[in-house]
Amino acid sequence: MEQQELRDWEARCIQEEPPACRAGCPLSVDARAFTLAMAGDDIPGARAILEKSMPLAGIVARLCEAPCENFCVRGPLGGPLAIGGLERVCVAGAPVKGKVFRLPPRNKKVTVIGGGPSSLTVAFDLAKKGYAIALYHQDPTPGGWLGSLPEAVLPAAVLEEELKRLVGLGVEFYQVADRDAIHGAGDATYIGQDDSLTAGHRVDLTDPDLQTFALAEPGLFTGGLSALDHPYRFITDVSQGREAAVSIDRYLQGASLTASRVALRHGHTELFTETKDVAIRERVVPADPGGFSREEAVREAGRCINCQCLECVRHCAYLAEYKAYPKTYARRVYNNSAIVKGIHQANHFINSCSLCGQCETICPKDFSMADLCLEARQQMVRENRMPASAHWFALEEMRAATGETALARHAPGQTVSSAMLFPGCQLAGIRPEQTLRLYERMLELEPATGIWLDCCGAPGHWAGRTEEFSAMTTRLEEIWVTMGRPKILMACSTCLKIFREHLPQIEVASVWTMLAQKPVAGAAVFPALALSDPCTSRHDEETRSAVRSLLAATGQALAPLPMSGAMTECCGFGGLMEGAAPATAKKVREARVAESDEVFLTYCAMCRDQLAKTGRPVLHLLDILFADTAHPAGEAPASISARRANRRMLKAEVLSRYPEAEGQEQPPWLSLNLDITNEVAALLEERRILEDDIRQVLYKSNERGAYFAHGASDRRIASARLGEVTFWVEYKLVAEVYHIDRCWSHRMVIRGGGERA
Ligand code: SF4
Ligand code: SF4
Ligand code: SF4
Repeated sequence: MEQQELRDWEARCIQEEPPACRAGCPLSVDARAFTLAMAGDDIPGARAILEKSMPLAGIVARLCEAPCENFCVRGPLGGPLAIGGLERVCVAGAPVKGKVFRLPPRNKKVTVIGGGPSSLTVAFDLAKKGYAIALYHQDPTPGGWLGSLPEAVLPAAVLEEELKRLVGLGVEFYQVADRDAIHGAGDATYIGQDDSLTAGHRVDLTDPDLQTFALAEPGLFTGGLSALDHPYRFITDVSQGREAAVSIDRYLQGASLTASRVALRHGHTELFTETKDVAIRERVVPADPGGFSREEAVREAGRCINCQCLECVRHCAYLAEYKAYPKTYARRVYNNSAIVKGIHQANHFINSCSLCGQCETICPKDFSMADLCLEARQQMVRENRMPASAHWFALEEMRAATGETALARHAPGQTVSSAMLFPGCQLAGIRPEQTLRLYERMLELEPATGIWLDCCGAPGHWAGRTEEFSAMTTRLEEIWVTMGRPKILMACSTCLKIFREHLPQIEVASVWTMLAQKPVAGAAVFPALALSDPCTSRHDEETRSAVRSLLAATGQALAPLPMSGAMTECCGFGGLMEGAAPATAKKVREARVAESDEVFLTYCAMCRDQLAKTGRPVLHLLDILFADTAHPAGEAPASISARRANRRMLKAEVLSRYPEAEGQEQPPWLSLNLDITNEVAALLEERRILEDDIRQVLYKSNERGAYFAHGASDRRIASARLGEVTFWVEYKLVAEVYHIDRCWSHRMVIRGGGERA
């Protein structure tokens, strides 16, 4: 990924945009973090947040007119947060932070004329940056009109304390009778118009630049321009002081006053905050008109919605797993690809996304984590940096489904196919007898329907193996041409999506659309079912509504599922998540079934078995349509070994229907008898070891007559390298039956061992 691409990805995620309250604050105070700290009764923490962006917080927090409240998202839901009132409770309840951090002194002096709020702000901000400040004021104490405020609004002690902080920062105060008494010009001068000292001289100060507050004469700046009746007189003056301080700093450093300057937002933000599920909560009314008690403040702060986008993260267990959001994830992916050698810490993260596309559908800016991860996977494969173990099992399954168990035939007795049923390797592997039943129905509807047992190549695509996937699609196209270019009827949403996107020259349709036009008789009816659309049908409105009308025609009622249709969720298998991150896939399917108490229903065989792994009852659509082949909703998922055997069995069964059927040659190791306990079966499932693999190891071991033997117990260990993986089997042989005790596999090569057992 190039740096510009990273920037483009980052720009698509608006999670780091400020919440409306912060965007509405002229000082950009992080009001969200502040209210959350207050809601947790953490007053010192809340004060520390204020101090980060508020100059002289003891004064500003007491006097700010809180224009931010106008923008608060809570506004229409019970009234905006009383941010101003909370700030007052905070500064009254927490002592002033200790010494303010100051940068090393700089060899530049700034003259500040006037002691009003804007001038004090300029002095505070620039003194922190290390400038020497000489501030001239007319009244006995600096502060301008602040000194005349009632004690209840601004206690004299607070003003005094903040002025002491300024002194602590090195600010020198001079009381003068008038401007003529000011001595010694600085390297830059600020003239605050919110102080009596400048009252008679405003005529000199006309037409300042309202972005930079620079006057025509270089080095001269002004601010504090709000009139007495300005609704936000105080905070506007403070804000102008801050903007002028930024300009003075730039001027003294010889930098442009305007280049890359962050403009005030006046409440504007791109941050999206979903409020549809936010309940109305009325503003807390203080018992004392003077302000909130601490307990009232905590309650009021608790009304904060904690405005964030995170729409995608809320619905995706994978995104939530890594505790951040797509903007930061884009950086992780970029950093991963930027490292040529060494540890690629984001490999696992990149390979764990299910590529289900829900994030893109939900995101107000269409951020597609699926595209980001898939592109990263493709790059890793291209650069030979994809760990061999990441997707090996799924790829081996794909290769087996396109080889040993693949088949394309016209209907028995036919020499052409107007259409072909393409059930997909998952339906064939999980429900072989239902696949045949579906094929029989297709033949009833259209006798010239052939059958095509194969894999669409989705695992190769998801694994980022563009070359292998391209070879797959070329091979599929060749078969289709050989079969006379028939229409392909898909029983799997993933196959349908892959064909539509990568083989657009082939006419395809969903079997559910076909069946919806000619419904079957005798379908079973259950109490209302929670219909979980496969994530690969997200953009396939036609298939989704065909399934619904098919169900309506059978009289089957549906229970509502919050995330369905275009918003549907992945079962944890998509994108090879199950193989790369089994623990995350478990969370994904558990989150899915938690969305309803009803029996689940789906029309993808893999979704059916993935969701059934949670122990919840799940039906496949074929269980409803063809009662004669129905499986119970509580049936356990098919094991990986059963899926392989089922595909083999399905192919043999289809071939047996052809008069000229050639006998399918069985691999010699298939005749070995295994005894596998439930415990070992679970181990095989977890380690992705097929019974086929075990039989091959034993067969090779027998051929060579070589294995490890433990004389006393008659226990044996055999090993063989099958493809890229070495498998080990520990067993006992009793009366021609192999009792399997343990199995494991690894990618290490046994030097000098070759395939010897
Ligand atoms: S609800 Fe909270 S975070 Fe959102 S705008 Fe209001 S104060 Fe800020
Ligand atoms: S799993 Fe799905 S929703 Fe989550 S990031 Fe990946 S594509 Fe997006
Ligand atoms: S939905 Fe996710 S990716 Fe989109 S802006 Fe929000 S946090 Fe970012």
